[in-house]
Amino acid sequence: MPELPEVEVVRATLENQLAGLTILGIDCYYEPIIENLVVFKTKVIDRKICAVKRYAKYLIFILEDGAFLSHLRMEGKYFYVPKDYPISKHQHIVFHLSNGNKLIYQDVRKFGRMEYKSLDEIYSTPPISKLGVEANSKEYNLEELYQKLANKRIPIKTILLNQEFISGLGNIYVDEVLYASHICPLRIGAEIKKEELEQILLMSQAILDEAIRQKGTTIRSYTSSLGVSGNYQTFLKAHSKEFCPICEKRLIIEKIGGRTSYYCKKCQR
Ligand SMILES: [Zn+2]
Repeated sequence: MPELPEVEVVRATLENQLAGLTILGIDCYYEPIIENLVVFKTKVIDRKICAVKRYAKYLIFILEDGAFLSHLRMEGKYFYVPKDYPISKHQHIVFHLSNGNKLIYQDVRKFGRMEYKSLDEIYSTPPISKLGVEANSKEYNLEELYQKLANKRIPIKTILLNQEFISGLGNIYVDEVLYASHICPLRIGAEIKKEELEQILLMSQAILDEAIRQKGTTIRSYTSSLGVSGNYQTFLKAHSKEFCPICEKRLIIEKIGGRTSYYCKKCQR
């Protein structure tokens, strides 16, 4: 599943390829991916793509007089390809572009969704209005988040995965953030101290920004026909690892809220 840094790399790649192009037509081979297809087509066809933005894991295609959101969910991928590129069976949406190329949306699991929004609805209506502050934002309100934690009797790992508390952290990065913060993922939210929450927020920013930077350096090697995939495994310290890089003890692997979690019993308290 793409996490925030991967989605950011997709965003930057797409903006680079698409800004200034007009969408001349849309073929949709699996309707549930696009909410209200008829309206979507009316509002999106013949519009220029001005920019591609992102909030948490939502891509936001900004058009001249509107926008559409795209969430990749488990397996969604975009491919920017020439006109005569053949469509394969997992490729469900084709955007025909004014330079003759196509933008293809592929989704093996078909969980991804697209939705039209007017420009003033993007942030003020669900889904984005329901999301918490982005996990790599510097503009969080520590006091407000700390108050929200105060009545949560569930593990901090589960709270951080809930996109309404803070948004953009998935299973892998929550493990990394808690490891870097020396906090055990099983700790109950209400028992997390304010300094510890601040540490979690600082580590979220640092880890996500670093992951974005790392991918930023490889962005040129993505060719349009390969799409974009992640290589974050190279710098993970806890998730998917066998031993703690600090104390060298074997990491605990355990399901927390149904999600496979890695942590060090000695270094995370
Ligand atoms: Zn350790």
